[in-house]
Amino acid sequence: MTGALTTDTNSAKHGVLNYAADELKACFKDAGIPAFRAAQVLEWVYRFGQTSFYDMTNIGKSLQKRLDEMFYIHRPQIVDVASSSDGTKKFLLRLADATTVECVYIPDVKRKTICVSSQVGCSVGCKFCNTGYSGFVRNLTAEEIISQFMVVKDYMGMWSCDDRLSNVVFMGMGEPLLNYQNVMRAIDNMMLDSEAGLSRRKITLSTSGISPIIHKVAKDLPCRLAISLHAPNDAMRSSIMPINEVYDIRSIMEACEEYSAHHKFLKITFEYLLLSGINDSKECAIELLNLLRSLNAKINLLRFNEWEGCEFKASPGLKVREFANILNDGGLEASIRTRRGADIMAACGQLSANSTGTRVV
Ligand code: SF4
Repeated sequence: MTGALTTDTNSAKHGVLNYAADELKACFKDAGIPAFRAAQVLEWVYRFGQTSFYDMTNIGKSLQKRLDEMFYIHRPQIVDVASSSDGTKKFLLRLADATTVECVYIPDVKRKTICVSSQVGCSVGCKFCNTGYSGFVRNLTAEEIISQFMVVKDYMGMWSCDDRLSNVVFMGMGEPLLNYQNVMRAIDNMMLDSEAGLSRRKITLSTSGISPIIHKVAKDLPCRLAISLHAPNDAMRSSIMPINEVYDIRSIMEACEEYSAHHKFLKITFEYLLLSGINDSKECAIELLNLLRSLNAKINLLRFNEWEGCEFKASPGLKVREFANILNDGGLEASIRTRRGADIMAACGQLSANSTGTRVV
């Protein structure tokens, strides 16, 4: 399997959540356990949220004991849950090595979304982002990514058929395409509960524009793609997103064209954070329109959520509406995203979990 198996440091046990379904079946087979037992375990884990082999009632006692000696099904520890007045909840989770990550539960009338993290910190260093400001610590394992999903379902009591998480967005801490293998594995496993009705099209990968990996996503993964663009030209983008000096707008556009060729009916979302006096002029809106009008794209305009120590200010509401009007009048679908969880520092760009680390650019 790709990505290291997570091993319990006190024993030789392996984490079930790190195995893809076919890998767990192969592992059972190697141990002389019939493959259908792996399917039973996966159903308990992903459909019912079970964390103890001893509670898997269709598995005999001696096999329960053996499985418990071979594997574990862990959850990260919930350190804190902050609740917003709009129903959003931000979870601070402690991992086995004592590092921390955050994930956010965002309910609304039509959907229940979880925003997950893919790394502890982030190496990309976008200047407006609290996570990037804190630096990079390490990639999350597949188990650590999917267990955010599991923890939220546990906490919210969402293991029944009629109350489910409907959408997953990789917009938390980290750049998911710099942890591609583990993110792919976590996405595959999220879909193991067929009852949940979670399809790849309800999963959105948000990237700062790692164009070589966008080409892979285009070929391998029919989930939704969101590009954090935030500027209409290279000079402006590089000044707020240094990663643009490595993967420029042209390379991102080429990768997006390939994605659209593979997924004709999936619109690419471009995220555009409006920063006062930086990227919110009428000229920027027109340049953005010209850049994106040939793609199957829509634009989410984001109001900046200020955080302590940040050099940027949010664009005034009137300016945001003007910007949206120029795009919509030009034939590009643009909407102004509602701020969720800003009062608990759970909104876009506000997650940090107090990690400290390094940046790649
Ligand atoms: S916006 Fe995303 S890619 Fe940029 S620093 Fe923050 S977490 Fe990393």
